[in-house]
Amino acid sequence: MENIQAVKGMNDILPDQIGWWQFVESTTRKLFERFGYREIRTPVLEKLELFARSIGESTDIVEKEMYTIADSRGEWLALRPEATASIVRAFIQHNLQADPLARKFYAIGPMFRHERPQKGRYRQFHQIDAEAFGVEDPMLDAEVMYMLGLLLRKLGLTAVVLHINSLGCTECRPVFRERLTAFLEQNVGRLCPDCQRRRHTNPLRTFDCKVDRCQAVLAEAPLLLDSICGHCAEHFSRVKGYLEDLRTPYVINPRMVRGLDYYTRTTFEIITDRLGAQNAVGGGGRYDGLVRDLGGPDVPGIGFAIGMERLILLLQQEQPAPVGVPPVFIAVLGERARHRGFLLSQEIRELGLEVELDYERRSLKSQMRRADKLGSRYVLILGDDEIERNQAQLRDMQEKTQSVLPLSDAPAQLKQLMISAA
Ligand code: AMP
Repeated sequence: MENIQAVKGMNDILPDQIGWWQFVESTTRKLFERFGYREIRTPVLEKLELFARSIGESTDIVEKEMYTIADSRGEWLALRPEATASIVRAFIQHNLQADPLARKFYAIGPMFRHERPQKGRYRQFHQIDAEAFGVEDPMLDAEVMYMLGLLLRKLGLTAVVLHINSLGCTECRPVFRERLTAFLEQNVGRLCPDCQRRRHTNPLRTFDCKVDRCQAVLAEAPLLLDSICGHCAEHFSRVKGYLEDLRTPYVINPRMVRGLDYYTRTTFEIITDRLGAQNAVGGGGRYDGLVRDLGGPDVPGIGFAIGMERLILLLQQEQPAPVGVPPVFIAVLGERARHRGFLLSQEIRELGLEVELDYERRSLKSQMRRADKLGSRYVLILGDDEIERNQAQLRDMQEKTQSVLPLSDAPAQLKQLMISAA
């Protein structure tokens, strides 16, 4: 019988990789909390309608990438393809607007999109997500991008560029949409079948088309950034000013449209040239009408998501793997020593050190080999003779020296040694 494999595009994260994930997660938590963001965890399964209404019916995500499930009562559910919609739903459902401490949120977890898998693109992937509600001032837009940039710097990532754009508002975007549709109409013969369809359903998305001949058409297309209204232009110019004050470099990219309908005004992406076709590490923007459109109060919002797989692929190109502290090893010879070693291992763990020991009565030689493989700096060697004398041998694997120490003192002494070796 054939072995069962994981679902295509869904990856195991094995222990030899987990150091990267833990490093990214702990750095994120520490940093975001400094900016007042608090963690929120929402279900991975939501009502399908939530995503259709927020992300947009005619987006790639909703049209073709969602994993949907009909539950036993015939209600349509979907595995979340992104986090913003769920966080907005929770914000409304729990009336978090009434809680002054609940305005900024972050979440870390898996998302699901049925895309064609390739390097940096998977069907289950993970995002770090941040969302802030209730502030219209462009100072927050700049702070959000600054926080994202600071996180990448703290992680040690350098090969990335911040792209920014404004997608206008409900006043100016529809006007532009008509202009763009008219332009696409004039050039319809030169467009791919997808873009021919998009010119009615979602004309802005044509800017994202990868087909060369569409790109050639769109190089001549009018740009939204040139037609945003006075309020949006003022907002955008203040965002740029604050970014400059914060010494956050950016590139204006008037062709960046993002794949979700709910964005308004400021949008941004973190772009790299080191991941082949999957060049976006993260992206986000303002969504001032979304909370209201989903039935909540009329509060503005802004947020972003970073793709953790892509982030870690980049980190792996730039720096060595984060290393943990190797464990202390307890090697035992004889039954009494084995029992005493077992108890000692728990005493040492209670003091906060990681300990490995032999459970299987292996030879002393093979225990020492294992300690060496684990990279243990210190090995406590216990034989029945040592137990008789209430002593243990302490071997320093690096210095290749051995000394004797009283058993009762062993945990405290080891802790001291590990602290000074760190
Ligand atoms: P989006 O919500 O589409 O703007 O995605 C935000 C970030 O999530 C992207 O910049 C990617 O880093 C990451 N991402 C999106 N889709 C995938 C995917 N299928 N596989 C891996 N990462 C993804």
